[in-house]
Amino acid sequence: HFKALVLAKENGSDPTLSVNKQSLEDLPDGDVTIQVAYSSLNYKDAMVGIKHQLVKSYPHIPGIDLAGTVLASKDETYKPGDKVIVTSYELGTGHAGGFSEVARVPKEWVVPLPKGLTLREAMILGTAGLTAGLSVQRLEDNGLASSEGPVLVAGATGGVGSLAVDMLAKKGYDVAASTGSSSEKDYLEKLGAKEIISREDVTDQDGTPTRKKRWAAAVDPVGGSTLQYILSTLKQHGSVATSGLVGGIEVKTTVLPFIGRGVNWLGIDSVQCPMELRKKVWERLATDLKPTNLNEEVVNEISLDEIEQTLQEILEGRVRGRTIVKLNPT
Ligand code: NAP
Repeated sequence: HFKALVLAKENGSDPTLSVNKQSLEDLPDGDVTIQVAYSSLNYKDAMVGIKHQLVKSYPHIPGIDLAGTVLASKDETYKPGDKVIVTSYELGTGHAGGFSEVARVPKEWVVPLPKGLTLREAMILGTAGLTAGLSVQRLEDNGLASSEGPVLVAGATGGVGSLAVDMLAKKGYDVAASTGSSSEKDYLEKLGAKEIISREDVTDQDGTPTRKKRWAAAVDPVGGSTLQYILSTLKQHGSVATSGLVGGIEVKTTVLPFIGRGVNWLGIDSVQCPMELRKKVWERLATDLKPTNLNEEVVNEISLDEIEQTLQEILEGRVRGRTIVKLNPT
């Protein structure tokens, strides 16, 4: 038997979360059975665990990220003892996830732990790190270089935001960090931000299609009127990597930034990211993009019992950086 956080629904009532004993037979079919060392918390886990969105059936084990050691594999690509990362696809939404001491997944979802990362570091990164890394990769693929000017990171104290600030600063970019948390100036400067901007100052209030050109690029996990502001202030041929919706899903824009300034609106999808690109970005996360401050203030470590409370805090925007869950490291 092993422990897991289970979202269960008794006939007709609202789903509830509780830490329960589970057995291997409770897990879905799959090729690779993994002893989970660490999981992590992402905004999407709050959508699943607290808002009960994206859940396909009950009972359900949430957790969109896990890192651990292979216990058994039906496929010879993986052997007992191999260290692996699993994120994305249906993990923690349509398939039992990482808030569990043991998980079983299809082999197609598994990424070997790259050299240069521990299992714990892999989860400090997690889906947030993969998303920040994919954002940097896409911006660079579209012409970003440090000589092009400052790069804006929105929602900068969040998971995707904090890691993007650190990665971009490490690569030599001038990073401006926008945040609704004015008390976190020191934290963002420690991560490498050169300029801290208030959330209001990067929020479009009046639908102005183009403003003074300011940013060579932007990493945006916020969306909504923040994205409207970004599109109106990108420099000629600048790009925004858009990954999130915490500030809203609706975006009002015009064609003017696109036809007048040739800006690029790049969509970031970590969930269905092709395996070749996924492995390439994980390799970079272990090397040139590996955040400088990975094991420091950016991380908060909790146990299974503390997940529900922390997911509530994520929805209220009260969690800084990355939260990892210690499960069963050997
Ligand atoms: P997170 O840790 O909760 O960070 C979100 C940050 O956004 C907060 O820390 C806060 O930063 C800011 N924020 C919160 N509420 C806001 C509001 N109402 N208006 C403006 N800013 C607000 O979440 P995360 O895990 O980094 O995820 C961020 C977003 O990216 C989520 O929407 C998530 O679903 C999405 N995401 C998408 C992908 C993908 O593949 N596309 C992958 C991962 C995450 P400040 O206090 O510093 O402003």
